[in-house]
Amino acid sequence: MNIEELIREVSKKEKVILTDLKVNKDYPIKAHIPYDSFVNRSFSVGNEIILGIYKNQERKIISFFHELAHIKNTKNYSSKYLEEKAMWKISFQLAKKYGIPKFSKKTTEWYKNQLKSYNKGK
Ligand SMILES: [Zn+2]
Repeated sequence: MNIEELIREVSKKEKVILTDLKVNKDYPIKAHIPYDSFVNRSFSVGNEIILGIYKNQERKIISFFHELAHIKNTKNYSSKYLEEKAMWKISFQLAKKYGIPKFSKKTTEWYKNQLKSYNKGK
């Protein structure tokens, strides 16, 4: 099973709406959001995951699980930083659950850099 198939399968199982920009290419235009906003970035709105443009497949899959973690989350966190940190942790647990137990060190470093964009304590 390739990454795209896995993402579709998990979306179905978790009952989330998937908008994958690789498939839904006209989404940025329709949403009036610059295309660049979706490069290496994904979003979740309500029950929908808007999966951005990734060259790196590991980043794509872990970002998908990160957004899924946000959707499934019911906890309140005292800061955005703590919330993001928890969501990244959960995203790796979800990936494991769905058959991807390991990610490269580069991917781990990448997500830690993503986390740095949220200031601690805010
Ligand atoms: Zn997040």
